[in-house]
Amino acid sequence: MATERTLCIIKPDAVEKNTAGAVLALLESAGFSILALKRTHLPQAVAEGFYAVHKARPFFGELVTFMTRSPVVIAVLERDDAVAQYRKVMGATDPAKADAGTIRKLYGANVGENAVHGSDSLDNAKNEIAYFFASSEVAPSA
Ligand code: ATP
Ligand code: MG
Repeated sequence: MATERTLCIIKPDAVEKNTAGAVLALLESAGFSILALKRTHLPQAVAEGFYAVHKARPFFGELVTFMTRSPVVIAVLERDDAVAQYRKVMGATDPAKADAGTIRKLYGANVGENAVHGSDSLDNAKNEIAYFFASSEVAPSA
């Protein structure tokens, strides 16, 4: 399996509940290395740009309001098969449908406030990482 990088955003609901550290610890236990990490309060234009693909969806306004209401923690994760493995650890979009032990089951509240974001393909992961981090900010793995 090839080594990949993917983007994780710990969303405002999880940061507000002081569970960002628990999410990162779970990810490290699951074999991910954290190559870059920052806490930031997303400006509206940055959240709208990040979720531009969902612009036509009925929940777009709600999603941008949620993602900009308080700070997020953004991480670049690396391991073999990182994109698929992180989606597995994240769990289903709706925490009620997520498997036991997944981040969304443990820390998500509902389909909107679901604790974390994860890239859904390797191409999107590359674009999403570049959206938030300069390449000089992403430390190579040891
Ligand atoms: P993410 O992109 O955040 O990793 P995902 O890929 O599981 O999640 P998407 O379909 O890409 O899900 O939706 C993006 C985000 O939009 C979801 O994580 C959730 O916060 C929000 N969202 C999705 N569906 C709904 C909905 N029906 N109502 C409210 N918000 C929703
Ligand atoms: Mg998605």
